[in-house]
Amino acid sequence: MKKTQYRVVILGSGPAGLTAALYASRANLEPLVVEGGAGEDPTDVPGGQLMLTTDVDNYPGFPEGILGPEMMDRFRRQAARFGTEFTFGAARKADLSRRPFLLTLDEGEVRAETLIIATGARARWLGLPEELDFRTKIGGVSACATCDGFFYKNKEVLVVGGGDTAMEEATFLTKFATKATVVHRRDTLRASKAMQTKARNNPKIAWMLDCVIEKVLGGAGKGVTGALVKNLKTGEVQEVAAGGIFMAIGHTPNTVLFRGQLEMDENGYLLTRDGTTATSVPGVFAAGDVADHRYRQAVTAAGTGCMAAMDAERFLSH
Ligand code: NAP
Repeated sequence: MKKTQYRVVILGSGPAGLTAALYASRANLEPLVVEGGAGEDPTDVPGGQLMLTTDVDNYPGFPEGILGPEMMDRFRRQAARFGTEFTFGAARKADLSRRPFLLTLDEGEVRAETLIIATGARARWLGLPEELDFRTKIGGVSACATCDGFFYKNKEVLVVGGGDTAMEEATFLTKFATKATVVHRRDTLRASKAMQTKARNNPKIAWMLDCVIEKVLGGAGKGVTGALVKNLKTGEVQEVAAGGIFMAIGHTPNTVLFRGQLEMDENGYLLTRDGTTATSVPGVFAAGDVADHRYRQAVTAAGTGCMAAMDAERFLSH
């Protein structure tokens, strides 16, 4: 790192972090971006969740679509063009008890006059041995229907989970898929009544309750062809044909570092105030999925990244 203290330090290099960097650097705040991507999961890479996505067709301005990693490379180069500094690795400790905040990074300690947290959230996965290959190399296993649903036109899909996300994803997927089967481990759904009713009234949604996926079937060249599904009540295992499997078993925001320091909701998402990106500690701002369990889109993350940089700039000028 070139300096020991920065006016703005940004944690995270997904759309939120890099948009914050673009705006902060254009405001001559010479931000430092801590790129992250040094966790235990092999898919934990700088650039965030889009690095694990193939075609991005819903980011405005790219009428032909763009690959997720290429999009993040463009975001990064645009932020770098205006003087953003980058450091590899992650933040390991953060002391937000007084300003400037003290951060322990892989490359050493640094002080931040303002901090923008854009560390994102990670989708939860089942943890099956073959799951990672289907997610990252073979395709066919996803945690985002809005991103990938379009590829399942005229196919049958499975949606795992019984919460609001599972209802929403299954409902959305029926726009493309011929059938979406919800596979849920209990016989009661966790989802809100309204979303359950909507899903239950959809003739293209089928249900496998008290069921879990034991194995994803398929392979290179074929993608996903189905799954072995076990009924937990009867013990019966059956092969179910499907062209894709959507995991909707929740997300975990990357906020462990800030526990006890910043206000969070019961699921660990950072709370922001009054329609801004301000957190419970003055000078600390949150952008992107780390503070958003509802929309979780690249474009909304970029939008709040912009807001966070403007909020930080305003804070510094007072
Ligand atoms: P969630 O409410 O935590 O539900 C996760 C679901 O996945 C649960 O049904 C859970 O089963 C299941 N699950 C968890 N781990 C599993 C595993 N290892 N194997 C199989 N199943 C597993 O998560 P969410 O649906 O993503 O919702 C998160 C929050 O966002 C909620 O507060 C929700 O209301 C909100 N949300 C709102 C909207 C909306 O209002 N439009 C849309 C989406 C989400 P159990 O039920 O057995 O625990």
